[in-house]
Amino acid sequence: MTETVDMIVKPDSVRRSARMPDYDRARRTFSWAAARAEMSGLPNGRGLNIAHEAVDRHAAVRGDRTALRVLGADGTTTDVTYAELRRRTNRFANALGALGVARGERVFTLLPRVLDLYVAALGTLKAGGVLCPLFSAFGPEPVAERLRLGEGRVLVTTPRLHARRVRPVRAALPALRHVLLAGDPADGPDDGEEGLTSLAALLDAVDDDFAIPPTDPEDPALLHFTSGTTGTPKGAVHVHDAVVAHHATARAALDLGPDDVFWCTADPGWVTGTSYGIIAPLTHGATLLVDEREFDAERWYDVLAGQRVTVWYTAPTALRLLVRHGEAAVARHDLSALRHVASVGEPLDAEVVRWSAEVLGVPVHDNWWQTETGAIMISNFAAEDIRPGSMGRPLPGIEAAVLERGPDGRAWRADGHVRPVRPGVDGELALRAGWPSMFRGYLHQEERYAASFAEGWYLTGDVVRRDADGWYWFAGRADDVIKTAGHLVGPFEVESVLMAHPAVAEAAVIGKPDPVAGELVKAFVTLRPGWTPDASLHDELLSYGRQRLGSVAPRELAVDPHLPHTRSGKILRRLLRARELGLPEGDLSTVETS
Ligand code: ATP
Ligand code: MG
Repeated sequence: MTETVDMIVKPDSVRRSARMPDYDRARRTFSWAAARAEMSGLPNGRGLNIAHEAVDRHAAVRGDRTALRVLGADGTTTDVTYAELRRRTNRFANALGALGVARGERVFTLLPRVLDLYVAALGTLKAGGVLCPLFSAFGPEPVAERLRLGEGRVLVTTPRLHARRVRPVRAALPALRHVLLAGDPADGPDDGEEGLTSLAALLDAVDDDFAIPPTDPEDPALLHFTSGTTGTPKGAVHVHDAVVAHHATARAALDLGPDDVFWCTADPGWVTGTSYGIIAPLTHGATLLVDEREFDAERWYDVLAGQRVTVWYTAPTALRLLVRHGEAAVARHDLSALRHVASVGEPLDAEVVRWSAEVLGVPVHDNWWQTETGAIMISNFAAEDIRPGSMGRPLPGIEAAVLERGPDGRAWRADGHVRPVRPGVDGELALRAGWPSMFRGYLHQEERYAASFAEGWYLTGDVVRRDADGWYWFAGRADDVIKTAGHLVGPFEVESVLMAHPAVAEAAVIGKPDPVAGELVKAFVTLRPGWTPDASLHDELLSYGRQRLGSVAPRELAVDPHLPHTRSGKILRRLLRARELGLPEGDLSTVETS
């Protein structure tokens, strides 16, 4: 319905220079075994360790290259070479040893995007600990809940965050043995408070050298909580072998290589900010830009231009903010280094894709994946023309299917079998299990994990459609799909039509019980600057929807200047629905509050 045969056609020079110039050939020739063979592995055949692939292997051959460039909140810029990152992460790994932290124990971070976060993350992986990065804006309850669920042994945080977020809940966390305080030693541990250690003092006391212990590729490495868009966040466990997928997908989908200056705006508290905001660019020997500060449109442009970023990885909400910010800002900045932008986390509407090609002058490549998949699964590619509004095609090594759904909206399993649907028909997106970064469990939820698989397929919970040429189109989450007058409506189809209206910056639709239709479609929209939310615009938007969508068009519409989002930038339709229907609001731990 929202499909378009429009293409953004790329020049031949762009296609030829891409690292994966021929999609069909790459799919035919790809194997995970070959991708794994590209990893250097620990010396003397001692296995595969993420931090070795990200840091030590590059430190050994070109240690003087910049691994991290950290733009500090105070306006300073700190460059850290691969050699220096090896030294710092070695010390962190030694520090965990000195504290008696055993392999497989969980090390949490609750830190802003400061250098210590990256050192703690990679140092933990070196030492064989399991890393669980938390978003630093979480309040005490979400912090406590995740630490308790994950039985955190060690927490690295700052004195300020400790005082506000951790001290109030510490007594309820008996498993938490060590709280390491990063940052200025001057505001270090409160005098005499038990179980607090200054990270700087600890690091001072240990050695520069560290030999990564033998690591089995199946050893747990990362614990990531989902965004909580559909309910209580789930803890997804990933293993060291995931690095094979981080590396291969960063090349195929992000076109990354050693000469890139790569900026990922996701915080490491979300899976994107770890898989691609820490690990993947380093495994390629690229320079990873880290910006500690809060973002707005001007700052994004300043960083993109000032740091000569070559690949920017961000989210649809950020791109929509740029659209709202206007075209004049683009002319004020030199974006000539930027090759392309990648977007993830939410559906990317065709309007933004076209805007970017015309106004930013670079393509935006939508890609799809989840906390559970650990790495990008479906993408638009650097060498390929773009179908605006489509999330692209499966990566080499990834087999995807669209499965028929049963009465509960999930892939039909009543007879024990799953069935693919025809092209053009909505169904649940499924992925053939077995890629390296696939999650190995939901923490303490074995049944739920088992129920995510059927006949060798991982069932994603998202509803999509595949067109006759093999491109995938997002319809909505299985939980969000609306049943109206006998039709199943994916919210994104309705939202992208509304967002094509010049007045609409962002849209979210929900189903609302209706005696006649079963559910009616209600839309919430945010307006672009210069538009007034009066009755005539309200009526115009409804009729605009009706003309384009017919019977599945929104019947009610509200202008809402603040659509609720998760902290990872996703629209919380379940919260809009709960508020509309006066239902309990559910888990709010990941709601963006500012
Ligand atoms: P929870 O599982 O707790 O409800 P969540 O699913 O939002 O939260 P994440 O793993 O962070 O947690 O997000 C993955 C989901 O984000 C996908 O299942 C999909 O619904 C959505 N998503 C990611 N990328 C895209 C994309 N390119 N287009 C459309 N939706 C996307
Ligand atoms: Mg999910």
